Parts: sequence; C-alpha cells; structure tokens
Amino acid sequence: MELNALISHGANSMLKERCFIAADKFNTGICRQCGQIAESNVELGYTFCRLCNTSGDSIKQVDIAYTSKLLTHELAAMGIRTNFNVE
Ligand SMILES: [Zn+2]
Repeated sequence: MELNALISHGANSMLKERCFIAADKFNTGICRQCGQIAESNVELGYTFCRLCNTSGDSIKQVDIAYTSKLLTHELAAMGIRTNFNVE
C-alpha cells in the first residue's frame, strides 16, 4: 500500500530524475548478440563489438548509469562476466 502511495505521488519519476538523469546518465552501445558493452562513439557514428566482431545494427544504444558501467568493468577485472539483456 505504501508503494502504491509513493508511485501515485510521483516518487518514482522523481527518484529516476535525481538518481539517474541528473546524476550519471551515460549513453553507450550494448551488443545484441553477446550483451557486452561495445566500443561506441555516437558523434562519429562508430560502434563495434570486439567479442563478436560486429558493428552497425547489432549494437543498440542505451542509457545506463555510469556506475553500472564501472561496476561491469570492475567485475570483469575480477573474472566475473555480466551481460546486459537488450532486445
Ligand atoms: Zn558482441
């Protein structure tokens, strides 16, 4: 019931705006085949996945929190592979 009250009060959008959009919103490319963060430069229109050797339509541009990107890279440094599920 408290959850419904917070959602109806607009807390969800306020939390998203304060903790994501205004804080550390980061645009990056995610490979649709392997789910890994791909190399991307939006200004140059360059996207490439080193794991699959693919580019172009197989890379989806998404907005994620920069801390999520850092966590993914730190887990990869420890040998833990994470995947983003994009369609
Ligand atoms: Zn890939």
